[in-house]
Amino acid sequence: LAASDCPFCRRLTLLADLPAGEVVWSFPRAVALLGPWQFYHGSCLLVCRRHATELSQLDDAVRRAYLDEMCLLARAVELAVQPHKLNYELLGNQVPHLHWHLFPRSASDPDVLHPVWLALDRAENDDELRRRLQTGPEGRPATAARLRHHLTALGAPVA
Ligand SMILES: [Zn+2]
Repeated sequence: LAASDCPFCRRLTLLADLPAGEVVWSFPRAVALLGPWQFYHGSCLLVCRRHATELSQLDDAVRRAYLDEMCLLARAVELAVQPHKLNYELLGNQVPHLHWHLFPRSASDPDVLHPVWLALDRAENDDELRRRLQTGPEGRPATAARLRHHLTALGAPVA
């Protein structure tokens, strides 16, 4: 996949057009976006600024900084929503541009023993389930603001 055809590369150039609150944090090496599935309250995507498909393609310093940013975002998610467990996923099967998924998991989720993708797959053909998984306990701007509050308190670096 060429960078010019990459949906994440395109999104990174159009961040200013996103609705307020969708960009959680602008790190030096990555951009944190509020995830679409806020049933997993506080879930985020952390999109690497560099178009690369594997961590091994990043220079050591860039990779370390990107991983540090991911851990800072994870800490902020933990502080913001106090999950039963946090899931970290770096897949790239559908969009091969480095992006972490952080999914906070709730003990009351009936699928808590499984990765979120099983429920998300079911939601593709189930409008009601899809709406339920897209909806968090508060508005998206409020969740993003809460994450930003913790990132600020943690001294997260800003690009
Ligand atoms: Zn890309």
